[in-house]
Amino acid sequence: MNGGGGAPVDFDVIVIGAGPAGLMTAHSLARVGRSVVVIERGEAVGSKNLSGGIMYCHAIREVFPDFLDSAPVERLIARNVLVFGTGSGHVAIDYADQRLSAAGTAVTVLRARLDPWLAARCEEAGAMVMPGLRVDSLLIEGGRVAGVVAGQDELRSHVVVAADGVNSFIARGAGFRPPPKMSQLGVGIKGVVKLSEAQINDRFQLAEGQGAAFSITGEVTGGIGGGGFLYTNRDSVSVGLILRLDDLTAQGGDSSVLFEGLLANRFVAPYIDGGRLIEYGSHLVNEGGQAMMGDIVWDGLVAVGDAAGLTINTGLTVRGMDLAVGSGIAAAKGIDAALAAGDATAQGLAGYPAALRESFVGQDMSTFAKMPAFLENPRLYRDYGQLTADVLRGVYNLDLTPRRPLLSLARQAVRESPVRIRQLLADSLKAVRAL
Ligand SMILES: Cc1cc2nc3c(=O)[nH]c(=O)nc-3n(C[C@H](O)[C@H](O)[C@H](O)COP(=O)(O)OP(=O)(O)OC[C@H]3O[C@@H](n4cnc5c(N)ncnc54)[C@H](O)[C@@H]3O)c2cc1C
Repeated sequence: MNGGGGAPVDFDVIVIGAGPAGLMTAHSLARVGRSVVVIERGEAVGSKNLSGGIMYCHAIREVFPDFLDSAPVERLIARNVLVFGTGSGHVAIDYADQRLSAAGTAVTVLRARLDPWLAARCEEAGAMVMPGLRVDSLLIEGGRVAGVVAGQDELRSHVVVAADGVNSFIARGAGFRPPPKMSQLGVGIKGVVKLSEAQINDRFQLAEGQGAAFSITGEVTGGIGGGGFLYTNRDSVSVGLILRLDDLTAQGGDSSVLFEGLLANRFVAPYIDGGRLIEYGSHLVNEGGQAMMGDIVWDGLVAVGDAAGLTINTGLTVRGMDLAVGSGIAAAKGIDAALAAGDATAQGLAGYPAALRESFVGQDMSTFAKMPAFLENPRLYRDYGQLTADVLRGVYNLDLTPRRPLLSLARQAVRESPVRIRQLLADSLKAVRAL
C-alpha cells in the first residue's frame, strides 16, 4: 500500500480520543468492515469531557435513527431565550415553539452519559475502544505517520485520526498544526446543578421531557467578550460561561470569580435556587471559526472535530458536537476510500476534506466565517443590552410627560449612550452579514 510503511499494521485505523468526533469516525469505519481502535486517555469514556450541553442532532440521527429513544438524551429543546443583562435588570427574547421539540433537532446531553453510549455503539459495530491509555506521540517513519506511541507501546496503522479535542497536542506536537492564537480560544466553565424534574418544569415553564436553552450576555461576563448559558437536563441544570481568552487575560479577569457571580446573578439565581452543585469543570473552546481550520489531512494522519478547529459560536448557539459528528462521518468516507485505493498519503485521503466541504459542516463553517471577528466587538457585551433597556424604559415608564414615538426614544437613548450612531449602523450591518 502506498504510504503504508514496511512493517505490518495492528489496525487499519487508530483513533486518538473518544469524544463524538473520534467515536463517529470509528463507528462509520467499523460499520464498513475496517479494523479500528479508539484510544482514550480518560479512565472511563466521557470522564474527561465537558460541553455546555445542547446537541444539534440532525447528523447523528441519520446514523442512529433511534437516537432520541435509545441515547441518553436529557430533554428536547422547545424554548430558546436570549438574555441581555443590564445593571438594573435584563431584556430577553423568548422563543418557545412546540414545533422545535416535535422535530427533535436539538437536545440536551451530558457527556458522561452520551460518550459511553456512543462507545458502546462503536463496539457493537466491531471497533475496539480502549480507555485509560494516553497517546504520547505519533510514530513517524519515512516522513509519514505510521502509528502512535502510548507509554512503552507502539501501535501501527495505515491511518491515524487525531480526535483529541481542542488542545490537539498530538497534531501540534508533531508540527502538523500551528498553535492557535489566544483570540481563537475561549475558556469554558461549567457547573451542573441538581434540581428535581418538577422544579425544572415549573421554573422554566416546560412540559414533561421538554427543555430550554438560555444564552445570557451583558453583565454576567463583567464586560469580557463571551456569554453565559443555562440549559435544562432531565433533573439538573447546566450553567456556565464561555469567555474569550485574550480578553479575559487582557482585563485580568478570574473565570472562577465570574462563575460565582453567574450563579448569584439576579436573572440566573432564581432558576437554580436550592439546587446542589454536583459537577464543575473548565475546558478550552475553539472560537476562531473557519480561519482556524487549516490543513486537516497529512500522510497517514487526519484531524477531526475540535482537533480540526471545527466549532461555531454565533452568540445565539454554540456548536461543536454536531460538527464533530459530521466531520467523523466525512473523515470515515475519505479514509475508507483511501484504504480501498491503497493510498493513505495526504493525496489519497483528499476525499475527507472534499466530503467535509460538501457536508453541512463545511457549508456552515463558511456561512459563519465572519462571526468570530463580529463577536470581538466589545459593544455587544457592554452597550447594546443597556441601550435596548433604555429605549424600552421610555416605552413602559409612563409618567406625566407627553409620550414620544419609538424612533425619538431610540435617538435619545443612542445620544445618551457611549455608542455613536455611525457605530450602531456599522455593527447592525456586520451582524446581518455575520449571521
Ligand atoms: C463550556 C463548553 C460549552 C460547550 N457547549 C457546547 C454546546 O452546547 N453544544 C455543542 O455542540 N458544543 C459545545 N461545546 C463544544 C463541544 O464540547 C466540542 O466541540 C466537542 O466536544 C468536540 O468533540 P471532539 O470529539 O472533537 O473533542 P472532545 O469531546 O474534546 O474529545 C476529545 C477526546 O480526546 C481525548 N484525548 C485527548 N488527548 C488524548 C491523548 N493524548 N490520548 C488519548 N485520548 C486523548 C480526551 O480525553 C477526549 O475524550 C462546548 C464546549 C465547552 C468547553
